[in-house]
Amino acid sequence: MLEVSSLARLVPVYDATARRRPALLLDRDGVLNVDTGYLGSYAEFRWIPGALEALAIFARANWHICVVTNQSGIARGYFSAEDVERLHRQIAADAHKAGGRIDAFFYCPFHPESRIDHYRAADHIDRKPNPGMLFKALHRCNADAHFSIMIGDKPSDIEAGHRAGIDSYRFPGGRLDDFLAGVMRARIAKITALR
Ligand SMILES: [Mg+2]
Repeated sequence: MLEVSSLARLVPVYDATARRRPALLLDRDGVLNVDTGYLGSYAEFRWIPGALEALAIFARANWHICVVTNQSGIARGYFSAEDVERLHRQIAADAHKAGGRIDAFFYCPFHPESRIDHYRAADHIDRKPNPGMLFKALHRCNADAHFSIMIGDKPSDIEAGHRAGIDSYRFPGGRLDDFLAGVMRARIAKITALR
């Protein structure tokens, strides 16, 4: 018998031509991949279980999908912006092979104690918990913010989500697709309670 993921049954499907569709905004480290700390190359990259499956399901449902990630390893001189962009192309290629999609990556290279002058910023608007990258992602996709979701593994992700006015959920680990199924159930319950 074919196993149908419960997530696939819970994600609202939008018409691909709809003028406004919601965005799934995802933190990267600890959500899409195991957070090994200052990850700068694909050789160290390991997908979180269920993450590729989740990307495929939301892609088929015609959601916008964006990654919003603090990458202070650039400011700290551990790796370059080019390294991060190369890694993101590889992540996007994996997603594509698995039937998924990542529309855009937004990363914040800035840090208050950057070793590199260019990346030193006391409180950059893009560095979560500030909401800059989330606003950029919503704007880039012309996403419907009201139905969009932010998923992160840290309180700063959730704060950034709330400050962008987005329904936000903290992923505690485990399978990402199962977690997102719980998120979709919670949202359905919320909407039902409002009726
Ligand atoms: Mg994280």
